[in-house]
Amino acid sequence: MENIDTIKNKAEYCLSCIKKPCSSTCPLNNDTAGFIKLIKQEKYKEAYELLCETTVLQPICGRICPHTKQCQKGCVRGIKSLPVEIGDMEAFIGDLAIKNNWKIPTGNSAKININKNIAVIGGGPAGLTCAAFLTKEGYQVTIYEKHQELGGILSHGIPEFRLEKKVVRETIKKILDLGIKVKTNIELSVNPKENAITIQELENEFDAIFLSFGANISSKMEIQGENLKGVYGGNELLEKDKHPNYIGKNVAIIGGGNVAMDTSRTIKRLGAKTVTVIYRRAEEQMPAEKKEIEEAKQEGIEFLFQTNILKILGKEKVEKIECIKTQLIKKEGETRLSPVNIENSNFLMDIDYVVMAVGSSPEVELTSNLNLNTDYKGRVEVYKNNQTSNPKIFAGGDLIGEKGTVAWAARSGRNAAEGIIEFLKNK
Ligand SMILES: Cc1cc2nc3c(=O)[nH]c(=O)nc-3n(C[C@H](O)[C@H](O)[C@H](O)COP(=O)(O)OP(=O)(O)OC[C@H]3O[C@@H](n4cnc5c(N)ncnc54)[C@H](O)[C@@H]3O)c2cc1C
Repeated sequence: MENIDTIKNKAEYCLSCIKKPCSSTCPLNNDTAGFIKLIKQEKYKEAYELLCETTVLQPICGRICPHTKQCQKGCVRGIKSLPVEIGDMEAFIGDLAIKNNWKIPTGNSAKININKNIAVIGGGPAGLTCAAFLTKEGYQVTIYEKHQELGGILSHGIPEFRLEKKVVRETIKKILDLGIKVKTNIELSVNPKENAITIQELENEFDAIFLSFGANISSKMEIQGENLKGVYGGNELLEKDKHPNYIGKNVAIIGGGNVAMDTSRTIKRLGAKTVTVIYRRAEEQMPAEKKEIEEAKQEGIEFLFQTNILKILGKEKVEKIECIKTQLIKKEGETRLSPVNIENSNFLMDIDYVVMAVGSSPEVELTSNLNLNTDYKGRVEVYKNNQTSNPKIFAGGDLIGEKGTVAWAARSGRNAAEGIIEFLKNK
């Protein structure tokens, strides 16, 4: 936790703008200028309670949100100089709430105990937030989670060196203390089986359902050699935390986002000789945060920008990869520059393991059997208030393709909670 004087200095740097542009660029619309003003006045508990009106993930979002692309992007200070370090202050307040055991404030209705039961499927940021905002209003919520531990990618994805598990557990404990029931090691499945529940069973048992089981299946590139031994999906490697022995090996990571950064740094720390991130666009276009790219470079990760992988070569296992250089051109109707392979610029690299980090999708086998509208990637489609094509079922987070950040997932969970409350009131 940062020193209180440092935090106060950071708060003093905030101009307390009346229009609060930082709040509009925060996916959760946190009252950023408001909670910072309370820090200036040393009203820390009030600052926490103000944040709780829109979020229950302060210690997490404070640490790992891409602030420069979200809240800090709107900061007026940032126009001429450095933006206010909003994330550090949010993490500080969240940590203080844990340390002092401050409770998440509940609405008056929570005391009424509304006799409506809601099932939340998946205990990641979207599910936890939806559960919290329903329970705060007095609804009865049960979270079903396939893993032993809640948290989703916060617990089974983002490595400890970026987000301490202790912080995740303490944040979740505070949320569960609202009175949320949890059933872990139970998964939503298409067919009845041990430790599983089907959508029909849920529909029979609950008044409403919120689906938030994420989209953590690594996408494939459909290139030659992708089925060879030694090719892994980055999402699965991080989720299961089961790795081969990388000592003395050369590893190629394909992609340029969070998963590419987290796998590359994890694998380097596990002893790989070289780890090379291969990205088809230029460094400025990488979706990963600048800070993470810098940290990766400092840790010895190598980068090959404007490079495409064409083939993975080997008899039974990966031995080499064939790559090609790209040039970036502006295509009509596209906002981002598109990479185009440069003829005859092919080259080979000696590689032992390839990690695919080129996107992810939900478990299509499951989403296509829920009797809900889905898109071309198998993501569940939602309409007003995050309601799906079945009025009793709501969905959010990565499962609906919600911009792939914790804050956006949490926002969809909060929206769905509001939608569920409206739906149940009208029943
Ligand atoms: C490696 C990595 C690093 C990232 N880094 C950042 C970052 O720094 N900052 C940021 O803002 N975002 C980051 N993201 C994105 C962010 O983590 C996700 O957008 C967010 O976690 C999505 O939340 P969610 O609740 O929709 O899904 P998830 O977090 O995926 O949670 C889904 C939950 O559902 C459970 N589940 C799955 N299937 C079932 C089933 N059938 N039955 C029951 N439960 C099930 C899962 O076990 C999981 O607990 C990162 C993502 C990855 C993969």
